[in-house]
Amino acid sequence: MPLSAAHSPADAPVSQGSLPPEETGFRLRGGVRALLIVGIAVFAASLLGLASRHTVSVSFWPANAVLVGLMLRHRQLNRWPAWLGAAAGYVAADLLFGRHLSLAAFFAATNLLSTLTATAFLRRLDARDLGLRRTHSVPRILACLLPACLAAALSGALLVAVEFHGSVSQALMTWPASELVNYLVVLPAMLTVRPQWPFERRAALPAPPASPAARAAKRRQVWPLGLLALSCIAAVVFDGPGSIMFPLPGLLLCALTYSVPATALLTMILGTGCLTLIGLGVMDIGQDMSVPQMVVSIRIAIAFLVLVPLTIASAMAVRDDLLEQLREAADHDGLTGLLNRRGFEQRMQDRLLAEWTPGRSVVVLWLDIDHFKSINDRHGHLAGDAVLQAFAQTARACCREQDLVGRLGGEEFALVADVSGPAAADAVADRLRAAFAAQAVMWNGAPVRATVSIGACYLDRPTRDVPGLVRQLDEALYRAKRNGRDRIEWLKPQAARRPPQRRYAGAA
Ligand code: GH3
Ligand code: MG
Ligand code: MG
Repeated sequence: MPLSAAHSPADAPVSQGSLPPEETGFRLRGGVRALLIVGIAVFAASLLGLASRHTVSVSFWPANAVLVGLMLRHRQLNRWPAWLGAAAGYVAADLLFGRHLSLAAFFAATNLLSTLTATAFLRRLDARDLGLRRTHSVPRILACLLPACLAAALSGALLVAVEFHGSVSQALMTWPASELVNYLVVLPAMLTVRPQWPFERRAALPAPPASPAARAAKRRQVWPLGLLALSCIAAVVFDGPGSIMFPLPGLLLCALTYSVPATALLTMILGTGCLTLIGLGVMDIGQDMSVPQMVVSIRIAIAFLVLVPLTIASAMAVRDDLLEQLREAADHDGLTGLLNRRGFEQRMQDRLLAEWTPGRSVVVLWLDIDHFKSINDRHGHLAGDAVLQAFAQTARACCREQDLVGRLGGEEFALVADVSGPAAADAVADRLRAAFAAQAVMWNGAPVRATVSIGACYLDRPTRDVPGLVRQLDEALYRAKRNGRDRIEWLKPQAARRPPQRRYAGAA
């Protein structure tokens, strides 16, 4: 058949022949795996579609969206063996339902034409668009699906004319509407819901940023889901064409409340429900479904019904991402990238009380670069900035990823680090002091050196009075200044647990 020949999956590989032998071996094993995964998925989805089909009504055909979703989510699958597996899956399901081989092959070719076109267009989109995390993601996905619907319409019309001697104009109307609604109902969930499949080695799409606690709590609310369930029941109980729209307010509330994947899952369940229940006659919309225009109209209505909440959910995701970025920016210092005073104090409060775990001990350091003003005066403000950045790097290098390092303002910094005991606390503070004193920032070919004074405390129990602790750390820091700079002064109340005090030489 011309269609299947032109779009045969066997045309897809371009570099297979040039691969080195060992890589070809790996590719072959990977190819068999891809063929099996995609073949089984398409076969199962085709069975589902064939089981719910109805000759004179809307029907549910998830196989094409499942195939496109797999190819986009797991790009390593997008190779000719996988497409071969898909063809086999389509044909096998049709044969199981008693279709003749030539007809099954024609249907498979039409489906492959649609899915190859959709994959070719959609894979050009940004990963954030495929994750529905941009304002115009849904219209962009819709635009990519239209050529696939058109391709399926042309091939479907040919199939209807050749195999069924039916009306080409009717097929050109019903086929693209069916493709569109099935893609829009299933594909968003395929692209955004992220179960960890056993065969999945790495995530294909970037993970969304972590949600703050308030948003996470909002998403645990169940009443929008309850409202949606009630409106779905009402849609089944009350007859008439308008009943399709009953779930819309519930869907909108869900889209405003839940995440993109949750909304995509709900629209998939709802769309699938509408297509199968109307198809099987359980949901009576009071229309003569043997009229093709009516079928097209219902398919388009369901497609647009899911389009609206998906668009709202992705706009909400954009807003959430921006808020997250804003929060990050509000908590960090632009020059050094460290936490700023606001971000540091909030996290320090949590670290020293709410997140405290038994057996833990920490060292808290309050730091101020010595004679920093004279660096600015002698070498200029930019040289001073370079010294601040160098200090930030040194401080980060002296502790672990999970430790807190912040720039409180100007040339003042602070650090909270987990330690194993007083000796380790002493070692952290001294390592930082010595590392900074030893470092030279090259400015206009000359080394610029600086030292740091430190007020320090070692804690082996949670602290309720963090402002009081900060005040004492400040006092210790100024004691270090008074006592000659480039030194560490430990907090007096912690004298019992104070590490052995060393005497350090003053600033050079
Ligand atoms: P001490 O040893 O007593 O701490 O003396 P100091 O000179 O370090 O302290 P002082 O408070 O007198 O001066 C701090 C200087 O830091 C004054 C200010 O101009 C400078 N400063 C504050 N923020 C920045 C910045 O972002 N970049 C640069 N280059 N300088 C800054
Ligand atoms: Mg200062
Ligand atoms: Mg200073």
